[in-house]
Amino acid sequence: MRAALSTLEVARPRDLAHALRLMRVPAGAERPTPLAGGTDLLVYLNAGMSIGRRFLDLWGLGELRGIRTAKTGVRLGALVTMSEIREHALLRRRFPALVAAAAEVGGRQIQNRATVGGNIANASPAGDSLPALMALDAGIEAQSVHGRRTIPFTSLYLGYRKLGLEPDEIITAVTLPLPPAGSRQFFRKVGTRRAQSISKVVMGATGRIARSGSGVRVEQVRIALGSVAPVTLRATLAEAALVGAAPSPRVAAAACEALLADIAPIDDIRSDREYRREVSVRLLAQFLHALDARFGR
Ligand SMILES: Cc1cc2nc3c(=O)[nH]c(=O)nc-3n(C[C@H](O)[C@H](O)[C@H](O)COP(=O)(O)OP(=O)(O)OC[C@H]3O[C@@H](n4cnc5c(N)ncnc54)[C@H](O)[C@@H]3O)c2cc1C
Repeated sequence: MRAALSTLEVARPRDLAHALRLMRVPAGAERPTPLAGGTDLLVYLNAGMSIGRRFLDLWGLGELRGIRTAKTGVRLGALVTMSEIREHALLRRRFPALVAAAAEVGGRQIQNRATVGGNIANASPAGDSLPALMALDAGIEAQSVHGRRTIPFTSLYLGYRKLGLEPDEIITAVTLPLPPAGSRQFFRKVGTRRAQSISKVVMGATGRIARSGSGVRVEQVRIALGSVAPVTLRATLAEAALVGAAPSPRVAAAACEALLADIAPIDDIRSDREYRREVSVRLLAQFLHALDARFGR
């Protein structure tokens, strides 16, 4: 049954410090649920899911807005929307994988409200920005009245929809180091149709090929996948099969074989295990070919 909106309590904090104080509640009291763009939360309320009666509306907090660039990287406020990511000139140039992911989140109306912090905190294994952020080595800034810390994206998810955040912490920003010159990025979502579907498999990847006297080698690679396990994950076995190797069809085949041990897809209403395994391998092959044609197709 739908939640009756009139029974919900929504607090509108004046600033971040006020919001953090409201997140700290006495034992036994209901802690408010942070509300950003509401594109997930309102769906849950509409479906009658039990997500509490108290909400903390973050939308007015200027401290959580804006995209700041520095020499070493970029900081996205948690309230930065998918549309803002799509339209930002530096992100388009230096972080095309994230921009491609933002463009795949629902349609334009959703992208105008859907925030990067909300996509991360919603913790769906099908969240589209997540593999891109993981492959780009993002850090998540979390804050409570006790202070601020940065959590590496790779260690953020502890289990299915389980975030490594303290109950009174909110996500304030996402940090992205500038990718080294010469690195390539890849993002691909496979769903039921070309737009506005939930992913059956989604992959973000970055890699760099080094050319030296001793030949051509994979210097660095990060491969992240969603919808193939309870959490978005790094394909560490596939990465290990690639780093230091000279690009060749044999190395690509070994990485694809290793990838099957990295992932644990299931059958569900959107797809089945075998299809997801097959598609994951094909996406990796596509990425490797884009990284260096010597990997073959
Ligand atoms: C029609 C439709 C299509 C969609 N399509 C896609 C899609 O293709 N791909 C995709 O990935 N998603 C999709 N979504 C889901 C959704 O749009 C995204 O997950 C979005 O990024 C959520 O952001 P939000 O700001 O709306 O979050 P909200 O709904 O406000 O919040 C989501 C969750 O995050 C928590 N939260 C939000 N901000 C913070 C914060 N700063 N700190 C701590 N916790 C926080 C909330 O408490 C809640 O648990 C779709 C949704 C709809 C309705």
